[in-house]
Amino acid sequence: MIDIEKQNVYKGIPAAPGIKIASAFLFKKEIETVTDEKIVNVDEAVENFNDALAKSKKELAKVFSLAVDKLGVKRAALFEAQIMILDDPVLINNIIVRIKTEKKNPEFIVNDEISKYQDIMTLSHEQYMRERSQDIEDIKNRIIRNIRKKKWKSRLSTGEVILVSSSLTPADTVLFSRMDVTGYITNFGGLTSHAAIVARSLNVPAIVGLHEATEIIQNSDIVIIDGFNGIVIVNPDEEQLLHYQKKLKKLEAVDLELAKLKDLPAITLDGRKIDILANLDLNEEFESIIQNGGEGIGLMRTEQIFQEYDSFPSEDEQTEVYSNYSQKLYPLPLTIRAFDIGGDKVLPVDVQEPNPMLGWRGIRFLLDNEELFRTQIRAVLKSSVHKNIKFMIPMVSSMREIELTKELISKCMDELKSEKIPFDEHLELGIMIEVPSAALMIRDFAEYVDFFSIGTNDLIQYMLAVDRGNDIVTNQYQEFHPAIIRTLNFIISEAKKTNTKVSLCGEMAADYKAIPLLVGLGLDSISVSASVIPHAKEIIRALNYSEISGFVKTCLTCKTEKEIHDILDKYYSDNFSESSNEFYSN
Ligand code: PEP
Ligand code: MG
Repeated sequence: MIDIEKQNVYKGIPAAPGIKIASAFLFKKEIETVTDEKIVNVDEAVENFNDALAKSKKELAKVFSLAVDKLGVKRAALFEAQIMILDDPVLINNIIVRIKTEKKNPEFIVNDEISKYQDIMTLSHEQYMRERSQDIEDIKNRIIRNIRKKKWKSRLSTGEVILVSSSLTPADTVLFSRMDVTGYITNFGGLTSHAAIVARSLNVPAIVGLHEATEIIQNSDIVIIDGFNGIVIVNPDEEQLLHYQKKLKKLEAVDLELAKLKDLPAITLDGRKIDILANLDLNEEFESIIQNGGEGIGLMRTEQIFQEYDSFPSEDEQTEVYSNYSQKLYPLPLTIRAFDIGGDKVLPVDVQEPNPMLGWRGIRFLLDNEELFRTQIRAVLKSSVHKNIKFMIPMVSSMREIELTKELISKCMDELKSEKIPFDEHLELGIMIEVPSAALMIRDFAEYVDFFSIGTNDLIQYMLAVDRGNDIVTNQYQEFHPAIIRTLNFIISEAKKTNTKVSLCGEMAADYKAIPLLVGLGLDSISVSASVIPHAKEIIRALNYSEISGFVKTCLTCKTEKEIHDILDKYYSDNFSESSNEFYSN
């Protein structure tokens, strides 16, 4: 047991499981401050500036070539653009002239001149331009740091590191995953923030909401990250190190055991088969879905394609992506979810919403941007020739949204027919159940769609009025809240009455404690991150369906989250071996 009262032990929110021991890498967007000071030696100042400029260009060229390797040409273009700014003769000339005439220190002039560029961009109505303004901040800091002859703390560190940062965007997480980042620790963020989901998909342990992480942890500190329990140990003593080295060894052995389950079905002891599908967020995960024995893709978050393209991917570009997955998976199913943009995800238009989670998100955005939606529907249809593709709509809250979507799909089908382009005429259409109004309308919606997939990440957020990405209210974000369990029961039983298939693709399906409950509620399929597939199989293969339906009935009468937790804990300790529980207790 680890003494969590010890001074070097900190607790955050366990966002992605796993244990790692490595040195810390602090990711800070450092801001260089400048003051308006006069100088005596103008020639020396100009020379200093020229040297700093040359050094900055050299550094950026190195970053660019690394980025091409790690990220591909498209994303690396960002760094090429930065180099071009450093070559702008007007900018450079202005700086040199001002140093000479105003006789002020070059850092001040560089800051002033480059900030002018930045201000124009910050005020832009285009989101793209505003984002580029952040890149210019990087260039400015780089030149100033080089004028001051400070060593550049490379963002592209080498060797295995645990990345410590104030917060991380999903894009940051993806970017760092392509380097040797073996763990993430952040000050902010909640369990279902998209950065946490990306970390889980990549099978990299992560702890979020450890408020003072960037204060407590210094660069190069040795850090133990225990993503099962949300524990971070900074500069461990011998006893702590030994404890975790032992755990790591056992974990490796367990992984080997789990790998044996890969080709076995998830079937309960009394013969109930549960389909274990996978959530696909990143291209990189695809291989591990197959390797870990996923029985298809239950949720492809197509928003990820924006990471690869600067603007909305064209019909051809999307067709290539979807066809490729469909072929590789055939005959297993590929469930493509329409772009779920807005909320806490990227909204590629210039709109500031006071409350984005309740704003222009998912199907609402798509129906208001018909051309964009049409492009995606056509690409999905064109990729559907192997008949293993299903299409799914996010954030549905009303019947009208389903009707309009179906009208658009049938228009696209007519177009393709007249263009003599083949597609699956029986393409299944499903909706995400993640808004309370949709949960209540299941029976009515069932007449219009082929399947449902419950998105608990959002359903919990909207039912309990708790922001899924806000660590301050993380205690209120309760997947075992009695209202949630009763709602899940309602959705599943209503869907069954109409013979409509229902799955669950929220993070709750990846919670080892929730799986027996979900199976007991009658789900016959779940969709989880690739890394969770073998664990889910292990748990399901040890269940007795007829037994669990009994304890599920008791859970449905509980009045508090704690009562449900206690029932599930007891069920686990009575029915599961030490080894499955071990990593979830420190
Ligand atoms: C969900 O809300 O549960 C879900 C799977 O969708 P996302 O996490 O992409 O919002
Ligand atoms: Mg959702």
